[in-house]
Amino acid sequence: MREIQMVDLKTQYLNIRSEIDNSIKSVLDSTAFIRGPEVKQFEKELQHYLNVNHVISCANGTDALQIAMMALGLKSGDEVITTNFTFIATVEVVALLGLKLVIVDPEPGSFNISVEEIRKAITPRTKAIVPVHLFGQCADMESIMKLAGQNNIFVIEDAAQSTGTDYIFSDGSVKKAGTIGHIGTTSFFPSKNLGCYGDGGALYTNNDELAAKLRSIANHGMKIKYHHDDIGVNSRLDTLQAAILRVKLKYLDMYNTARISAADSYDKALSVCPEIIVPERVTYSSHIFHQYTLKIKNGKRDNLKRFLEEKKIPSMIYYPSPLHAQPAYSYLGYRETDFPVTTALCREVLSLPMHTEIDQEQLDYIILNVLKYFE
Ligand SMILES: *Cc1c(COP(=O)(O)O)cnc(C)c1O
Repeated sequence: MREIQMVDLKTQYLNIRSEIDNSIKSVLDSTAFIRGPEVKQFEKELQHYLNVNHVISCANGTDALQIAMMALGLKSGDEVITTNFTFIATVEVVALLGLKLVIVDPEPGSFNISVEEIRKAITPRTKAIVPVHLFGQCADMESIMKLAGQNNIFVIEDAAQSTGTDYIFSDGSVKKAGTIGHIGTTSFFPSKNLGCYGDGGALYTNNDELAAKLRSIANHGMKIKYHHDDIGVNSRLDTLQAAILRVKLKYLDMYNTARISAADSYDKALSVCPEIIVPERVTYSSHIFHQYTLKIKNGKRDNLKRFLEEKKIPSMIYYPSPLHAQPAYSYLGYRETDFPVTTALCREVLSLPMHTEIDQEQLDYIILNVLKYFE
């Protein structure tokens, strides 16, 4: 059996090696390392895949969030509501831009931001909501868009973990994660569902004016060379990364299907154990399992993790500590009792190995050992 890894980028690379190597070589031959033709081509192809009017590539998913907030003209003191159960990048940019960070609990089942908690947190100063489509499944976008519309609030979807997830509206229509709010953002960090071989990110929007603004801000605030309308940043996707992403985008649906199939195996075998809660699958979204995240009851999570380590099975805790408990964010003045759901989740969650090349032998070995621990 191959060594079990949380993410096996090596095996994935070997399976598409000649295509990747050729695409890298063609960029080297052209030496168009910045803003080469592959960047535009990739943006067009992702645009088509997502069925969205504009894709603007940038240097990483954190920049994408920052550029989105800059383009919406959010100003110091404006309130931005997001979830307490996410990767730090989501809240970091809010703080960096001098905006007032308002964090709320997620739903205990889906791990995604609770619409009820958003409703309670809205004030006349609320300017934006940032739902994060965590672990590969969409937040309840229909309710969030309705609430945002009633209160004149922007919605920025953090789709870093959900490239390719389908959101299903109550009328049956379907849109890709990140294309529903005013702006969507994503990351091409290597371990993401669509990952490159370094850093990369993108913004999505259907609004022409916003698209022009996003493109300008990502490129030093200029639409015409050396003419600066906006205060911008330098945030570009490298041509090499774009060339790699063009190859990998062709396989994205296949990759996501492989993840879903691994998740199905886990679900089937592990849902029989009363001390394990398998990931909830909501009706309004597909789930592409960026992470396969269990909840382990009765305080047994850490011991299970150690037991699996002994069997050479890696597992990860996403996320071990709520944001409000991080020293950098203590200035917000929140208390643990403000977030009963996040606090409980941080003690219970455990993510099992999940990637596009995991095979049945590996899955069976992981499942066998998880169940053995609870015997
Ligand atoms: C990975 C990630 C980001 C940041 O992406 P980078 O490309 O690493 O900057 C933002 N939000 C979420 C939810 C993420 O998982």
